[in-house]
Amino acid sequence: MKQVLKPPPAQGEWITWTDGGRLSVPDNPIIGLIEGDGVGPDIWAAAQPVFDAAVERASGGKRRIHWWELPAGEKASDRFGRHLPDETLDAVRKAVVVIKGPLTTPVGGGHRSLNVTLRQELDLYACVRPVKYVPGTPSPVKRPEDVDMVIFRENTEDLYAGIEWKSGADEAHRVLGFLRDHMNIVLDEASGLGVKPMSPRATKRLVRRAIRFAMEADRKKVTLVHKGNIMKFTEGAFRDWGYELAREEFPETVIFEDELSSRYSGAIPEGKILMNDRIADAMFQQVLLRPKEYEVLAMPNLNGDYLSDALAAQVGGLGMAPGANMGDACAIFEATHGSAPKYAGLDKINPGSMLLSGAMMLEHIGWKAEADLIVRGITAAIQARTVTYDLARLMPEAREVSCSGFGRAVIEHLGSA
Ligand code: NAP
Repeated sequence: MKQVLKPPPAQGEWITWTDGGRLSVPDNPIIGLIEGDGVGPDIWAAAQPVFDAAVERASGGKRRIHWWELPAGEKASDRFGRHLPDETLDAVRKAVVVIKGPLTTPVGGGHRSLNVTLRQELDLYACVRPVKYVPGTPSPVKRPEDVDMVIFRENTEDLYAGIEWKSGADEAHRVLGFLRDHMNIVLDEASGLGVKPMSPRATKRLVRRAIRFAMEADRKKVTLVHKGNIMKFTEGAFRDWGYELAREEFPETVIFEDELSSRYSGAIPEGKILMNDRIADAMFQQVLLRPKEYEVLAMPNLNGDYLSDALAAQVGGLGMAPGANMGDACAIFEATHGSAPKYAGLDKINPGSMLLSGAMMLEHIGWKAEADLIVRGITAAIQARTVTYDLARLMPEAREVSCSGFGRAVIEHLGSA
C-alpha cells in the first residue's frame, strides 16, 4: 500500500501547547502545508520563498520553518484514491499550525466540500478574517483605509452543516411526511430540504473568541451580525446567546449600546468593549457607508461567508484577503479565494491572500517581527506599482508581474521595508 504521508522534516521540532493553553513554538517549527488545487501550487511557489526570507531576515538567521507537505484535494485523490486521507487529518492535529491553498469543490454533486469537512473534523469552529487595507491597493470605494475589521464567522453550524436532502430523494419524502403529519407543515412534495442548526454552545464559543480577541488586540467594539428579525430561533437566538455570553463571562469588560448614552455619555470608557448587534442586510450598507464604526464582527456561517467576501472587495478583492480556520487544538491559515481553475499553472494569479495569511500565521505563533516584515514588503511592492494582473487592470501605470514575480518583488522590498 502507498505511504500517504511523507515523514515530517527531520530537522524540525513540533509546536505544542503548554499547560496554560499557550503555544510553545521552537525556533525550527514544523508547520503543515496543504498546497491545494488549481492555483494552489502557483501561489505556494510564490509565497514560500517570501516566508523563508522574511523569517531569516527578521530573526537574523536564528529561526527557520520546516514545511511538512500534507496531501489533500485532487492530488490526494489521484494518488491515494481519497480527497482527504485520515492520515492528513491526524497530521494537522499533530502539527497544530497549518497553511493551505484552495481546494476545489464540485457544485451540485460529487464529493462534499473538503473545506467544510476539514472544519468539522478538526472542530475549527472560528473562521477569522482580518480585513484591512494595504496602502496603494486599487479599491472600488473612496476611502478603503477606513476599513479595519476582523470577522469571526461560526464555522460548524448553520445551513453549511451539510444536512440536506435532494428533491425527490427518499429521505426528503420522509422529512416532508414528518413535517406534514406531525407539524402540520405542508410543503411542495418536490422540495429539496436543508437544515439550519444553531446551538448556544457553538455560538458562545465563537463570541467568546471574538471578545477575547478584542481585549487582546485593544479593539473597542464587537458587533453581532444576524438575520434574527426573520429567522428568530436560529439567527435571533445567535444574537441573544451572544449577549448572554458577554453578560455571563465578561461583566467587567463588555458594555451594551443601550447603556452607552444613558450611563457613559456616548463614549466607550477606557478598558471597556461595546457590544452591539446589526441585522445582516443593513450591515452590508453599514460596512460601505460607515466602516469606521465597526471593528470586530461575530456572525453565523452563511452571513459570514457573504460579508467577508464583500468586505474583501472593499480593500482590493479576494487576492488580498487573508484568513484562518481556528479551533482550540489547531489552526489552518488559508488563502481565502478558491482554486480559480482557469488560471491554474499559468503563474498569473495574485499570491497576496496566501502571503497575508502567512503573515497572520506568523503572528499567531508569536513571530510578530516576521509577520510585520511581510506586510511591509507587500505594501512596498504595491506602492512601487509592481502588481499581478488583477490589480494592474485597476491601476494606472502599473508594472504587471507574474505570481512568482510578485513574490520576488516582495522579497526585494523586504530590504527596504
Ligand atoms: P475563485 O476560485 O475564488 O475564483 C473566482 C474569481 O475570483 C477568479 O476567476 C478571479 O477573477 C478572482 N480571484 C480569485 N482568486 C484570485 C487571486 N488570488 N488573484 C486574483 N484574482 C482572484 O472562485 P470560484 O471560481 O467560485 O471557485 C473555484 C473553486 O474553488 C470551486 O471549486 C470552489 O468550491 C473552490 N473554493 C475553495 C475555497 C477554499 O479552498 N477556501 C474558497 C472558495 C472557493 P477574474 O477571473 O475576474 O480575474
